[in-house]
Amino acid sequence: MRSIGHWVGGKPVEGGSGRAGPVYNPATGEQQASVAFASTEEVDEAVRTASAALVDWGVSSLSQRAKILFSFRELLNSHLAELAGMVVDEHGKVYSDAEGEVQRGLEVVEFACGIPHLLKGEYSDQVSRGIDVFSYRQPLGVVAGITPFNFPAMVPMWMYPIAIACGNTFVLKPSERDPSVSIRVAELWAEAGLPDGVFNVVNGDKVAVDALLEHPDVAAVSFVGSTPIARYVHSKATSSGKRVQALGGAKNHAVVLPDADLSFAADHVSAAAFGSAGERCMAISAAVAVGDAGDALVSALTERADAVVVGPGRDEGSEMGPVVTEQAKERITGYIERAAQAGARLARDGRGLVVPGHERGFFVGPTVVDQVTTSMEVYRDEIFGPVLSVLRAGTVDEAIALVNANPYGNGTAVFTSSGEAARRFHREVNVGMIGINVPIPVPMAYYSFGGWKDSLFGERRIHGPEGVGFYTRSKVVTSRWPAPRAGAGASLQFPTSS
Ligand code: NAD
Repeated sequence: MRSIGHWVGGKPVEGGSGRAGPVYNPATGEQQASVAFASTEEVDEAVRTASAALVDWGVSSLSQRAKILFSFRELLNSHLAELAGMVVDEHGKVYSDAEGEVQRGLEVVEFACGIPHLLKGEYSDQVSRGIDVFSYRQPLGVVAGITPFNFPAMVPMWMYPIAIACGNTFVLKPSERDPSVSIRVAELWAEAGLPDGVFNVVNGDKVAVDALLEHPDVAAVSFVGSTPIARYVHSKATSSGKRVQALGGAKNHAVVLPDADLSFAADHVSAAAFGSAGERCMAISAAVAVGDAGDALVSALTERADAVVVGPGRDEGSEMGPVVTEQAKERITGYIERAAQAGARLARDGRGLVVPGHERGFFVGPTVVDQVTTSMEVYRDEIFGPVLSVLRAGTVDEAIALVNANPYGNGTAVFTSSGEAARRFHREVNVGMIGINVPIPVPMAYYSFGGWKDSLFGERRIHGPEGVGFYTRSKVVTSRWPAPRAGAGASLQFPTSS
């Protein structure tokens, strides 16, 4: 059985804690590797290595950093197929989706290649006679990233390219379900010329996470994962004085107005619900049909659900792969079962789906649950599987109120042909990322990504300009260079700008 260890100080390190977890191939249901779980001492060693590397990296020139980032970008691009394949084999998503996630991560690297421009400061000449003021940004130190299973390549890439470009050193704790791609990325960083110790990977579980959250030499933590853990990470790390951005889970609504092109809306809502087996934080898991759009929408959605080709991610014909683990499959099918018991109508039931030749794979078919109400568990909880609930609202105002009453606020979309309704929707919903006839409105790398309410704890969103702000601290310098034998002495008055 293949063993996956850690990456510290520019080289692979075997796990020494004696603790490890299984890594499955979700398409076959077989365990394919074992991943080491770091002990507190192993995390400490990684942080100490990152602290030592900071001495040089923190003062490296902007052109050196940009040059390494450009090389890393080239290597990611030339290894895209290999990295995507690793994602497919451990996560289960289909190959085109895995390629897409590496590509979206790569775009953050491209953004970070512009670091010399992004770190430019401000300068005010002559704020008072002979006095100038300027500001600039400095790195924080050692920063940690803790990431979820669902985008094992992309989500870490939301963090470390910018953190490293800003002059920090980085310790990544990826998901224990699909850890291989992070170790491969570490090798590519080394090949790109990144000095040893600037990028480190510790694999593990809660023990490793807690060790990072408590470590006095970790200055900041970026977390992406489920809401309960995001809340925990935010509260624990801020209480030990760290800067924290903790992105949590989601329940994303697509509101379909009666004036929408129904066929277009059904295509896009179903793709956003069932793509990557619903294991996206921006997946649509609740469709809200407004006015008389409901019945026609449900029938179009069930048609689309029936047409989805479910199979192993490596098969070219597959449009949707398995879910990540047997436990995830059981959790999802449990939700479907209880939804029916609670009085919802299973317009399509994905339980019991068998993929020939992959009978032990963790497959759940596309599921459409109609007649869902806001009090039902299937609506309240984030299911993180290919389960789409359909709710009804009388008016657009009712639909907006429904979206706003939900504790999550990650993404939402409206389908309409009315500019006025779309404008009202995006202005009035309390959600961070909004699509207008776009079902998964993931911001580009040069914007920042993040939700509202229980989908983000902390002030700064991830990547884009807010990412640069998160990974740096600014200084403002007020400066005077008096001429030799210059004028009168100092005054005791509060300084003014005359
Ligand atoms: P998760 O919260 O279970 O795990 C995320 C990370 O936290 C992993 O590295 C894991 O090892 C660690 N962790 C798990 N339990 C822990 C504990 N008790 N104490 C300390 N650390 C712990 O999330 P997941 O199942 O890997 O990923 C799916 C979740 O991530 C979904 O809720 C999804 O919506 C969310 N997500 C959110 C975004 C976003 O941008 N808001 C993006 C991707 C995924």
